[in-house]
Amino acid sequence: SKPSRTVIAMAGSGKNGTKDSISKLISDLNSAKLEPDVDVVVAPPFVYIDQVKNSITDRIEISAQNSWVGKGGAFTGEISVEQLKDLGCKWVILGHSERRHVIGEKDEFIGKKAAYALSEGLGVIACIGELLEEREAGKTFDVCFQQLKAYADAVPSWDNIVIAYEPVWAIGTGKVASPEQAQEVHVALRDWLKNNVSAEVASKTRIIYGGSVNGGNSSELAKKEDIDGFLVGGASLKGPEFATIVNSVT
Ligand code: PGA
Repeated sequence: SKPSRTVIAMAGSGKNGTKDSISKLISDLNSAKLEPDVDVVVAPPFVYIDQVKNSITDRIEISAQNSWVGKGGAFTGEISVEQLKDLGCKWVILGHSERRHVIGEKDEFIGKKAAYALSEGLGVIACIGELLEEREAGKTFDVCFQQLKAYADAVPSWDNIVIAYEPVWAIGTGKVASPEQAQEVHVALRDWLKNNVSAEVASKTRIIYGGSVNGGNSSELAKKEDIDGFLVGGASLKGPEFATIVNSVT
């Protein structure tokens, strides 16, 4: 049997989104008919988390897009896991390609963040994915396994982790991975978990795909055996389209 399904909206990544656009998105999502079997999570930028939590239906959980690596304290400009919990977040996205390749976060640092967030009871959406030049050099599996291993080395349990495979060349580019390209990596990640963690973790862990997912391509991707949902950026800014994506994964 397949793991349960999860679809996550990055409702305004980083600098995108305004109070007005978020409010419109929330009202679209509150009135959308969403398949009951799918876990739906919205990940607004930090500054809009409170607004979303206060106006969105309880059916939808809230994620942050990042968190600090350890306990709160004097780390000016950072947001702690404790603060995210205080605002009602259930999840945090870690290791997004922009954190890795623009901000320069390293595997080990991301693994520590994951372990800390889990220890405080947050679920972790653990992103991994290769750059275009890595794919072209035939290194896709090596890169993804190395990033996955950094999480595996750091976390005590996989109960509360969703893996998000996001090929960097597909993020925000309109160049979606084909269902075959995505499935090939997802099944390899599941095999890696089986060989390096346990068969139980391999079969239970949700592996979702991200990178130019939209209402037109999601159902073909979702048919693949090892694609258990999506992490959606651009298309999640449009509520009705995001609902179409949610309802395509069952
Ligand atoms: P996209 O973004 O769906 O717009 O490609 C995905 C992401 O930012 O993770």
